[in-house]
Amino acid sequence: MTRPRTADGLLHHARALGLDRWEAQRLLEHLSGHNRTWWVMHGDEPLAEALIDAFWHACQRRSAGEPLAYVVGEQEFHGLTLQVTPAVLVPRPDTETLVDWALTCLPALGPRPRIVDLGTGSGAIALALRHRWPSAEVVAVDISAEALAVAQGNGARLGLPVDWRLSHWWDALAGERFDLIVSNPPYIAEDDPHLPGLRHEPLGALTPGGDGLDAYRHILAGVGEHLAPGGWVLFEHGWDQAPAVQTLLTQASLRNVQSRADLAGHLRCSGGQNP
Ligand code: GLN
Repeated sequence: MTRPRTADGLLHHARALGLDRWEAQRLLEHLSGHNRTWWVMHGDEPLAEALIDAFWHACQRRSAGEPLAYVVGEQEFHGLTLQVTPAVLVPRPDTETLVDWALTCLPALGPRPRIVDLGTGSGAIALALRHRWPSAEVVAVDISAEALAVAQGNGARLGLPVDWRLSHWWDALAGERFDLIVSNPPYIAEDDPHLPGLRHEPLGALTPGGDGLDAYRHILAGVGEHLAPGGWVLFEHGWDQAPAVQTLLTQASLRNVQSRADLAGHLRCSGGQNP
């Protein structure tokens, strides 16, 4: 196929590959550094070979199913621009529900609440909370050194101090207590038919294996040691897991167990409070 030489031609090509209009525009803006308005004026001019190559390559990646966030290397989350690589899950708008809920809990948790984000990935939740609640002391852990490097880079770039620790859940946190425990752990069941569609993202961030609930069991086993009196545990979970996660929270002796819906109306987060 002969390659188009203008932006208009490339955008047309991208649509033919199955990219939607918004994505194709986003790629062009990202790779060229020129915004949409600029391209309206210059869409019929011949482009530099390097830009054509880069756009062509990016379109192939996207049309092969790679998330746009990996192709452009960044994703917006709760008003922050985060860099992302295939070492981390792409932050989802659903997870903003967890951040918003956490922000409503913080005012009652003292002047300098201690927060821990378990399985932080890109650092999305930890950074959004530190950004919106600067008096909080935020610790964030991940089992993946590669993921933690991405999170650390985001914190440095955004000027948001978070205490990053390489840790399998509580392992590196012996004896430490928190007023707020937040986590978007791997929760997809091993045999979930959606899993193959997420093949570009790290499997360990998506599924803990089995019924998808093991990460909650593991985290809740540490609540007695790590949750301060009056503190909250808030989890994100799958669209159909609220009853199961609520049961686990109740079995961990937490009270005020409740759930919150995401923008699509699915109960996406559940949490409970230490008596
Ligand atoms: N929200 C992701 C999805 O369903 C899964 C994230 C996770 O397992 N924590 O695509």
